[in-house]
Amino acid sequence: MKRVLHSVVPERLVPPRLSVKRRALLRAIAQSMTLFGLAFIGLLWLSLAELAGQQEKSMLRQSEQETANLSLVVEKSVQRTADNLDRILKYLRETYKIDHYTTNWARIVHEKFTIDHQAVQVAVIDQNGMLVTSSAMLHPKKPLYLGDRAHFIFQKNSKTDSLFISKPVIGRASGKQSVQFTRRFNHADGSFAGVVVISLDPGRLANSFSKLQLGSGHGFALEGNDGIIRSGSGIYGGLVGKRYVSAHSPVSKDIYGTLISDDQSNGGLRVTAERMVKGYPLKVIVTSDYAAKIAAWQATKRGYTAGAAILSLIVVLAMVASAMSRLRFETKMNYLARHDALTGLSNRFHLGEVLDDACANLDCKGNFALHLVDLDGFKLVNDAYGHPTGDALLLLAAQRLRLVLRSSDVVARLGGDEFAVIQHGIKNEGDTMQVASRICELLAEPFQLGALQIKIGASIGIAVGGVDAFTANDLLRLADMALYGAKGSGRGSYCFFSEELNAKALARGELETGLTNALQNHELVLFYQPIVSTVTGEVTSFEALLRWQHPERGLVSPLDFIPLAEETGLIIPIGEWIFEQACADLARCPEHLSVSVNCSPVQMNSLRLIASVKTALEKSGLRGDRLRIEITESTLMSENSLVVARLEELRGLGVKISIDDFGTGFSCLSYLQRYPIDCIKIDRSFVSKMASEQDSTPIVVAIVGLAKGLKMTTVAEGVETAAQLRELTDMGCTEAQGYLFSPPRPAQEILPRSDKLRDAA
Ligand code: C2E
Ligand code: MG
Ligand code: MG
Repeated sequence: MKRVLHSVVPERLVPPRLSVKRRALLRAIAQSMTLFGLAFIGLLWLSLAELAGQQEKSMLRQSEQETANLSLVVEKSVQRTADNLDRILKYLRETYKIDHYTTNWARIVHEKFTIDHQAVQVAVIDQNGMLVTSSAMLHPKKPLYLGDRAHFIFQKNSKTDSLFISKPVIGRASGKQSVQFTRRFNHADGSFAGVVVISLDPGRLANSFSKLQLGSGHGFALEGNDGIIRSGSGIYGGLVGKRYVSAHSPVSKDIYGTLISDDQSNGGLRVTAERMVKGYPLKVIVTSDYAAKIAAWQATKRGYTAGAAILSLIVVLAMVASAMSRLRFETKMNYLARHDALTGLSNRFHLGEVLDDACANLDCKGNFALHLVDLDGFKLVNDAYGHPTGDALLLLAAQRLRLVLRSSDVVARLGGDEFAVIQHGIKNEGDTMQVASRICELLAEPFQLGALQIKIGASIGIAVGGVDAFTANDLLRLADMALYGAKGSGRGSYCFFSEELNAKALARGELETGLTNALQNHELVLFYQPIVSTVTGEVTSFEALLRWQHPERGLVSPLDFIPLAEETGLIIPIGEWIFEQACADLARCPEHLSVSVNCSPVQMNSLRLIASVKTALEKSGLRGDRLRIEITESTLMSENSLVVARLEELRGLGVKISIDDFGTGFSCLSYLQRYPIDCIKIDRSFVSKMASEQDSTPIVVAIVGLAKGLKMTTVAEGVETAAQLRELTDMGCTEAQGYLFSPPRPAQEILPRSDKLRDAA
C-alpha cells in the first residue's frame, strides 16, 4: 500500500534556537575580558570628559577673573587721566577768576604745566562760541566759531558745573580727532563766560593697555553715558565714535559682570568685563580673547584624546583578539562536541539538534526522512581483522554515505556501525526509497582495504518526520523499530516504520517482560539430547537444550527467545541457572556420561562466567571433565586475550571446549590453533546435505580430517538417518547427535540414573 506523505502542522515542540555559531559569537563577546575592556574604555572616556570639563571651567573662571581685574586696572588708569585733565580745566578756570575775570588766556594756555602730554590741545572759547586761544594756535589768525560744538552747547545751557566729555570729533583748531573734556567758566556775576576745553587723542585713553598680550580677540574701550565709544583699541578700534550695544545687564550700580560670548565670525569665544569709571560718565569695557586660550587647551585636549583613542584601540584590539581566540576555541569545541572523531560526520548529539530543528520547521520546510543505517556483518570484520581495519572500513562507508547526500541533508555516525541520514524536503515515498536503495547498493559494493577486499552490506530503518512522528526522540525510536524489521526480513534491505512493526515491537517488549519473570517462575526447563559414540554406539554425553514452558504459548523454542536474552543481558542469570541445573542433572547420571552446555558469546565475555561454572561444579559435585561447553565461532573471532584466558581457565577446571555449528560462521581456521579446543561439532546443514545434489561430503571429510590432525574429536549434528551415520562413521567422525537417536527430551524421560542413586532409591 502506498504511504501518503502529507504536511502536518504540528504544535511547535521545539523552541527556536540561535544558531550554534551565533551563540558561540555571543558567548565570545560576553566573556569577562570583553566586558572588562568595555568598562575600561567607558571609564577612560568618562574620566577624560570629566577632566576636560573641569579644566575648561577652571580656565573660564580664571579668564573671567583676569578680565575683571584688568577692567579694574583700566578704570583706575582712566580715572587718573580724567582727574588730571579735570584738574587742569579747573586750574585754568581758577586762574581766570584770580585774575579778576580778565586774564590773558594765551599766556596761561601757553604755560608748560597746563599742557598735558596726552592732550592734543588746550583751548578757550568765549561766551559767543569764538575761539579765544588754543595751545595749537595761541592767537587765532582768523575768527574761529566753535559755538556749535556739543560741549559748548551743553556747558552754555548747563545750570550746574559739570565735566562734559564729548564724543570723538575732528578738532577745528587741531585738525585731529579728539575727545574733549570741557568745563564752563563764568563772569564775576556768575553768568556764562565761555568754555575751557582740553582735547585728547582718544587712543591715549585706552591705548596704553593694548600692548598687553591678550590675544587677537582682545580689546579695550571707553564708552560715554550716551553709549558712544570715546576710545577703543583692539577689537574696539573701529568702533570709536560709534554706538556700542552692551549685552550686559548691571550686576550692581557701577560694577558689571563678565560676559562670555561666542562669536564664531569674529574669532570665537571672548570674555568681556564692563565697569563704570568712578566719578565720570564713562564705562570701561575690557574684552580678552578666550578663544586663543581655549585653542591652546584644545591642542592639549586633542593630545589627551589621541592618547585615549590609541589606548582604547589597543584595548579593543586585545578584546577582539581575545574574542576571536575564544570564538576559535568555541568553534573547535562545538565541532568536537558535534562530530564523530573517526569519520568527521555529525554525531548523535548534532543529529538530535538537526532533528529538533527539522521537527520545529515542518510547516515551512516540509517532511523529512530519517534513515537509520546499520552495517551488516561489520562485527565479524572487526573480530576477524581487528579494530584498525574496522575503523578504515567505517571511514570508507562514511565517504560512500556522503556521496548519496545533497548539501541540505545530514549524515551522522551514531556509534559503532550505526549511521543516520536525514533526507530533507521529501515529496513522496519514492524520494525516500530512492535514497535508501542507493545507500544499500553503495554499501553492498566490496570495500578495498589495502590487499583486503571486504564485502558487507547495510540494513536501513526509515521513519518520516511529519508523518510517523513529530519529535526527534520518537523518530529515532520508530526508525530503530524499522531497522529491527529490516534486519529481521533479511539483511541488505530497507524498511519503513509501520504499525505492524510497532505491534511486533510491543510483542517483543511483552516477551522481554515474560522472560525476565520466567526464571523466578520456574518456567525455564532443560531438555537433553544424547550424543552417541559412532564406534561403540553408546551414549557418551547429553546436550542440554533450553526450553521455555510459557503459561500461554506453551513450549517456546530457544531460537525465539535466546537472541532476546542475549540482547537484554538476561542470558547471564539464565546461563548461570543452566550451568547449575545441567551439572546437577548430570551428577545423578552414571560417571561415564558428560553434559554439553551451550554458552553464548555474551556469557563468554562476562566476568562472572568462570565463577558461575565453578559454583555449578562445586554445588553438584560434578567432575570438571564431565562438562563440555559449546561456544560458537563468533566467540572466537575477536582477538580477545580475555577469551583465551577464560578458555584456559575452564580447561584448568577440566572442562572441555566444543565449537558448535562449525562451518557456518566466518570459518577462519587459524583460531583452531590459537584456542584450546577439544571438539568440533559439524553443523547440521552439512550433515543433511551429504549425498544430496549439493553434496557437502567433501566438506565434512575435510572437517573430520582437520579435527583428527589437530587431535580433536568430532560430533556430527542433526544425524537423522542410518545412512548418514554409516557414512560419518566411515569418515572417522567420532560422535553423532540427532533425531536418529533421540530428539531433545525432558531430563526425567531421558537421563539415566547412576547405579548408586538407583540402589539408594
Ligand atoms: P545447537 O546448540 O546447535 O543445538 C542443536 C539444535 O539442533 C537443537 O535445537 C536441536 O533440537 C536441533 N537438532 C538436534 N538434532 C536434530 C536433527 O536431527 N534434526 C533437526 N532438524 N534438528 C536437530 P534447539 O533445541 O531448538 O536449539 C537451537 C539452538 O538454540 C541451539 O543450537 C543453541 O544454539 C541454542 N540453545 C539451545 N539451548 C541453549 C542454551 O541453553 N544456551 C544457549 N546459549 N543457547 C542454547
Ligand atoms: Mg549446541
Ligand atoms: Mg549446533
